Amino acid sequence: MLITRFAPSPTGPLHLGHAYSAMLAHDRARAEGGRFLLRIDDLDQTRCRPEWEAQIFDDLAWLGLDWPRPVLRQSTRLPRYRAALKTLWDRGLLYPCTCTRADIRAAASAPQEGAPLFGPDGVIYPGTCRPMIPPQGALPQNCALRLDMARACETLDTPLFYLEKGHTVTPQDLPHTVGDVVLARREMGASYHLSVVLDDADQGITHVIRGEDLREATQIHVLLQRLLGLPTPAYHHHALIRDDAGKRLAKRDDARAIATYRADGVNPRDIRAMVGL
Ligand code: GLU
Repeated sequence: MLITRFAPSPTGPLHLGHAYSAMLAHDRARAEGGRFLLRIDDLDQTRCRPEWEAQIFDDLAWLGLDWPRPVLRQSTRLPRYRAALKTLWDRGLLYPCTCTRADIRAAASAPQEGAPLFGPDGVIYPGTCRPMIPPQGALPQNCALRLDMARACETLDTPLFYLEKGHTVTPQDLPHTVGDVVLARREMGASYHLSVVLDDADQGITHVIRGEDLREATQIHVLLQRLLGLPTPAYHHHALIRDDAGKRLAKRDDARAIATYRADGVNPRDIRAMVGL
């Protein structure tokens, strides 16, 4: 059975782009007799607010979507994320990192490094904290942990791949195109990449339907699935809804907030038409 999900972060109002993503996933599940789940990505407790979460439920219900309750919240899953980090740590694939963003920018643009290269998470980490020999002992607490990408890729016995629209996509050269991604953040316990992979696996997600802004991140997720022995779902990255100037919508783009349209008397059918559904 097809199981898909919509996983918003309650850090602001849902806008047209979110509505499109949620309706696309919901419609697909309904068309195929599958299930549509709502998940709340509230790992970053400094930015998430209960009132935004309440608004998400309200807007999605108003749009005519339905999902099983209770929903999964990432904030309840830290022990699960920690256990996965320990597995990777014990295999020598993680190391602590104390670099700030400014440190990374400075090191990556140092003359001997050439121009900084960008990956899915921004500037590719130049490896300042990467040890020669994997650290041992207990999993460190309250610090950022990075995946040693080269070492992780060396452990793979067959190439990575995933399916998108029936085509096989094979990620290439992750140490150079992605680099050592952060899997645990000092203040959050886990990063988006780790949490999303574990949540999708534990919820039995068979199809991930999300915006094309996350396409580059998918190769990281497929690698983590392989390292952790988890299944890889099929992926569909849809086009982003843009404003009249062609800019993608942001959470702070209140003019396109579903709540604003609702207050203006727009109905859910109009919203569907606006996003081309
Ligand atoms: N919380 C993430 C976002 O809003 C979800 C990403 C995903 O669907 O994997 O961008």
